[in-house]
Amino acid sequence: MRIGNGFDVHAFEAGDHVTLGGVRIPFDKGFRAHSDGDVLLHAITDALLGAAGLGDIGRHFPDTDAAYADIDSRVLLRDVVVRLSDKGLSCISVDATVIAERPKLGIHIDNMVQRIAADLGMPLDRVNVKATTSETLGFCGREEGIAAMASVLLEETQD
Ligand code: MG
Repeated sequence: MRIGNGFDVHAFEAGDHVTLGGVRIPFDKGFRAHSDGDVLLHAITDALLGAAGLGDIGRHFPDTDAAYADIDSRVLLRDVVVRLSDKGLSCISVDATVIAERPKLGIHIDNMVQRIAADLGMPLDRVNVKATTSETLGFCGREEGIAAMASVLLEETQD
C-alpha cells in the first residue's frame, strides 16, 4: 500500500463557469489558470503522483508548455493513471475535499464522482468527494478562489 496527498488552489478571474471534478459548473467567475484550472482533479492527480513517488503535477505537465494551455484536466489525470499502471500501481481509494464559499457544489458531487471513478477505472463507492466552505474566512471565504485537497491509496497490482 502507498498513500498520497495533494493540494491545489486556483484564483478566480472574470468568467462564466468553473470546472471541478471534470464538471462544468455555471458561475459568475472563472479560474485563472494555464489549464482548465480544475483544482479538484489537480489535487487528486498530485496525490496519485505523490503516492507513486513520481514527483508532482508541475514536473509532468509544466505550465510553461503550450501543449497544456487550457487542457482538460481529465486528460492529465488519465495520463497519470497510465504512468501508475506502468509502475504496477493501481488506485483503490480516493477521498477529496473542495473548499469553496460559492458556487454551491452539492448537486454536482455525484457527477464529479462518476467522472473521477471513470478516469481512474474505479468503482463509484471507492471515490468520495466532499465540499465545504471556510465560513467566510481566508481567501476561499472571501471568494477569491477555490482550494481542494485529496488523499489516495495505491496498491501494487499482482503479477
Ligand atoms: Mg492547479
